[in-house]
Amino acid sequence: ARRVVVVGAGMAGVQTAVALREQGFTGTVTLIGAEPHQPYDRPPLSKAVLLGKAEGSAFDVDFEALDIDLRLGSEALGVRPGDHELDTAAGPVPYDVLVVATGAEPIRLPGAEGVPGVHLLRTLDDADRLRPVLARQHDIVVVGAGWIGAEFATAAREAGCAVTVVEAADRPLAGALPAEVAAPMTAWYADSGASLRTGARVERIEPGAVVLDDGSRVPADAVVVGIGARPATAWIAGSGIELGAHREIVADDHLRTSLPDVYAVGDCASFPSGRYEERLLVHHWDNALQGPRTVALNIVGQTPAAYDPVPYFWSEQFGRFVQYVGHHTPADTLVWRGDPSGASWSVCWLREARLVALLAVGRPRDLAQGRRLIEAGAAMDPELLADPSRPLKGA
Ligand code: FAD
Repeated sequence: ARRVVVVGAGMAGVQTAVALREQGFTGTVTLIGAEPHQPYDRPPLSKAVLLGKAEGSAFDVDFEALDIDLRLGSEALGVRPGDHELDTAAGPVPYDVLVVATGAEPIRLPGAEGVPGVHLLRTLDDADRLRPVLARQHDIVVVGAGWIGAEFATAAREAGCAVTVVEAADRPLAGALPAEVAAPMTAWYADSGASLRTGARVERIEPGAVVLDDGSRVPADAVVVGIGARPATAWIAGSGIELGAHREIVADDHLRTSLPDVYAVGDCASFPSGRYEERLLVHHWDNALQGPRTVALNIVGQTPAAYDPVPYFWSEQFGRFVQYVGHHTPADTLVWRGDPSGASWSVCWLREARLVALLAVGRPRDLAQGRRLIEAGAAMDPELLADPSRPLKGA
């Protein structure tokens, strides 16, 4: 390949461009992004950037020095695989290899579209709009007690806002963690002074209030919606690239799409995990860091490299550092490690005695040791595992 075009200038797109140069690619690299801003990192948007503790979160990458042709404020509109061309608002861009890294976009709350005072939190522009909202210390309703909802609620409490979190499920993080593990997290909301309303849905939004499906009115000067994200792939419909049930690009184990010479990586794509024997759609930062290395290897190298990561992510919420590594299913055996009412504890998941996933709250050492054991596929002794005073070790 002589011309690589990367669409989407978020973490995955930027890392792909950088990895190509790191691995010695000497052809042209064009990086096309819809947002007008210098490419930036998203995790700080719900943390330091939101609270005004950090100026911004632009990536520390010298695109010029790396000879990466960065085209910002340019939206890709479609792919014509027969011509090997990407269509953008600024005209067609020919490619030998195309990498799709358009990430995800937040799911909108039905009926809340265009209602004044309703916010999402995905982009730098969103964070810029929300910072003054926090500074006014108003009443804020957060819709959704997922990762983003919890982090936003944390920041809003820190800024001195009155916060109510409305969650349709009976617990926080219902999509990610079993009830047993999420239960102790419910108390984190109350401890921080936020009110968590589970089993509740937004009926409508009125000026100054959110009306819930039980008829109650919650004061709201602003509403922040954090009910999930879905792959940003609408622009690619009709191109022949196979999309999955969540509208994600269905990549193979080398992160190739169903079209020749087109790869997909990051939040926009799922891949078959050999390790976990199931297809994974990961919406976390580490996947947007690791995946691009595999893509670059496959573009540059002679021997194809398979992508088979142990997924990892972290969240900072209510003064706690929460980390998760691996992947579990409801069929896996859950082992507690420490007291969940305490400040720090972990949970392990075993499959046929092997460690497959670990959640650590304030126990980064468990996370580091657990990650190695998961990578090694180590067999564990559940009894030793349950003792938080012992280091994590294989049996
Ligand atoms: P994105 O970051 O979504 O980047 C995709 C880019 O493509 C965007 O800039 C978009 O504008 C652009 N684009 C889309 N369509 C087009 C088009 N048609 N043409 C051109 N450009 C296009 N993960 C963690 O592990 N830990 C955290 O603590 C954490 N905190 C987060 C906090 C927030 C507020 C958010 C929003 C996410 C957080 N994440 C966190 C998730 C993490 O940021 C994402 O997994 C990561 O950003 C994915 O990178 P990506 O490049 O695949 O997608």
